[in-house]
Amino acid sequence: MSDEGAGGGIAFVEVKRRLGTLHYQTDAKDHAHITVKPEICAKCPHSFCTFACPAKCYERIEGRLVFRYEDCVECGACDIACDQGSVTWHLPRGPYGVRYSFG
Ligand code: SF4
Ligand code: SF4
Repeated sequence: MSDEGAGGGIAFVEVKRRLGTLHYQTDAKDHAHITVKPEICAKCPHSFCTFACPAKCYERIEGRLVFRYEDCVECGACDIACDQGSVTWHLPRGPYGVRYSFG
């Protein structure tokens, strides 16, 4: 299946499908490379993280912010998007994290 639109111009990236080409070695929850502070997220006025994360690691479910570090592609967008001081961001310790097979 092509990644280009019908006009053949701007590439259409199927994020979900592309995420399926990645390999992950997930570290234990105690060593999650990103953490959030639930008490801050509970009062967040915008939840920018839910829009910024390409891997959909952040979701609002019944009003509660749910974060899953396991699918993280280590782009850093959530660290920039969160202006409330909730996100603590580190690269995963080796050999954990995402591994890109292509590109
Ligand atoms: S933007 Fe920051 S404070 Fe707001 S919900 Fe996301 S992680 Fe929490
Ligand atoms: S670093 Fe990127 S992929 Fe990982 S949780 Fe943050 S926004 Fe999502």
